[in-house]
Amino acid sequence: MIFSQIIECLYDLNVGIIGVGGERHERPHKPLLLLAALDLIDAGLATPSRIPWSRELRDRFTARFEIVHHHDDKNTPENPFYYLQTQGFWQAWIEDGNTTHPLKTTPLVNQTGHVFARFIDGFEMILALPENRMLIREALISRYFPGLGRQDISASPPLSFVAEDETEYGRSPAFRRKIIEIYDHQCAACGLRIRLPVANEVSFIDAAHLIPFSESRNDHPTNGLALCKNHHWAMDRNLIAPCPDHRWHVSKIIDPRRSNGEKDLSDLSGKTLLLPKDEAFHPDAEGLAWRCKQLIA
Ligand SMILES: [Zn+2]
Repeated sequence: MIFSQIIECLYDLNVGIIGVGGERHERPHKPLLLLAALDLIDAGLATPSRIPWSRELRDRFTARFEIVHHHDDKNTPENPFYYLQTQGFWQAWIEDGNTTHPLKTTPLVNQTGHVFARFIDGFEMILALPENRMLIREALISRYFPGLGRQDISASPPLSFVAEDETEYGRSPAFRRKIIEIYDHQCAACGLRIRLPVANEVSFIDAAHLIPFSESRNDHPTNGLALCKNHHWAMDRNLIAPCPDHRWHVSKIIDPRRSNGEKDLSDLSGKTLLLPKDEAFHPDAEGLAWRCKQLIA
């Protein structure tokens, strides 16, 4: 796997979603365990080919868990340590005397020293480089825990060198793919869906950030919206905005008598946002309020 594919894979972890209504959220466990593994590699306590099931690993997991968890999440690093194997880039093993076997269930604390995991499928080579680990850590935080942001407790140096150009290391395509999947290729304003069944799948739909990434460092899907080219263009110019009432608002500078285009935009006023079925991915109120405030009065 190459770097951009790894970012896409990490943006689409099978994390599990739980809760109802406003409590509905993605489980934090898999990305938290990956962040803990990166910390241990940085600290010289692990390598990409050997991440010990250790107290240090569990401590790093717990430190971030206590910041990001929802009330029905449990502090259970043993679950992602085992279940990350379903992602195809992580294997867990147990040493028994002189032989090593695949781990068959979640590890116990008293198996510390006998259980380890390894990255495979190209991850081990990418993760061998400290600068890659830093970019991957930043990507995981942007995607799953934007609230941790720059205050992340990682032992790494600050991320000030990270380029503002988000396309540079494949983050932008990963965000786009995730948003388009969640919205099933449909514009949240007009409902337009154009999806061509050709290689690399052509979609007319863009993934827009509510609060721009350069400002928020937030690639969580709740900071995104799927929009057709027209409505993306109009939102970026603050002519239309999705607001916390989950309706579209239109700038007063739009005059429906002037042109059909402006009439189309004007007609959007008061229409409800077309949102994904799963409330875990509905846009967050902060991002909607930000967009609403940008609307040209
Ligand atoms: Zn549209």
